[in-house]
Amino acid sequence: MADATRNLVEIRERIAKAAAEAGRSAEDVALVAVSKTFDGDAIRPVLEAGQRIFGENRVQEAQGKWPQLRETFSDIELHLIGPLQSNKAKEAVALFDVIESVDREKIAKALADEMEKQGRKLPCYVQVNTGLEPQKAGIDPRETVDFVKRCREVHGLDVVGLMCIPPLEENPGPHFALLEKLAREAGVAQLSMGMSGDFETAIGFGATSVRVGSAIFGAR
Ligand SMILES: *Cc1c(COP(=O)(O)O)cnc(C)c1O
Repeated sequence: MADATRNLVEIRERIAKAAAEAGRSAEDVALVAVSKTFDGDAIRPVLEAGQRIFGENRVQEAQGKWPQLRETFSDIELHLIGPLQSNKAKEAVALFDVIESVDREKIAKALADEMEKQGRKLPCYVQVNTGLEPQKAGIDPRETVDFVKRCREVHGLDVVGLMCIPPLEENPGPHFALLEKLAREAGVAQLSMGMSGDFETAIGFGATSVRVGSAIFGAR
C-alpha cells in the first residue's frame, strides 16, 4: 500500500473518532484531501483508495493535473482553497466544483459573472481572516455577516459556509469557535476548518469539512 493510502485510512479513522467524541456522525464531516504541490502520480493511489474530494490552492497548478485525472475518475469534487485573482475567475469556475476563498467584493462579482456566463452555479465559502493577520487572505470577522449577505443578495452567489485558517502560532480553538458563531449569525451551515495539525479540534467545534494535506500526502 502506498504511504498516502495508509495515511488516508488513518485520517479517516481519526475523523470518525473525533466525531464520535463530539457526539457527531463521521458522515457529517467531509474530508478534503489537499493535494497542492503533489503531481498526478502521487494523487492516483488516493483516488484509487476511494477519496473523491480534493483541495488545490492555485488555479494554474490544478489545471495542469486534474483534467487528466478526471478522464479516469469522473466523480471528483475539486475545491479551490487558495486566494483567487479576478483575472483567473474564468479558469477557476471552469475547473473547480466548490470555491472556498471568496473574501472580497471584486472576487464575488468576478465569480458571479463567470458562473452566469458558463451556466455553472458553484457552492461558495466566504474565507474569514479570524486572526486579522495582515498577510493572510480572508475578510475581517466584523464584516463577515454583511459580506455574506451581499454575496447572496447583490451577486447571487450560493454561499454555503465559511472557511478559516487560524494563525499558525495560536491555539486554534477560539478561531474555530468564532467561525462557528459567525456562520450562525450569517445563516450558513457549512464550516470548512481544521488542517493536518488541528482537524480533530475543529471537529469538536463543529467543522463540517476538514482540509488535510501533509498528513495524507507527506511533507511539502
Ligand atoms: C495547504 C492548505 C491546507 C492543508 O494544510 P496541511 O497542514 O498540509 O494539512 C489546508 N487549507 C489550506 C487553505 C491550505 O492552503
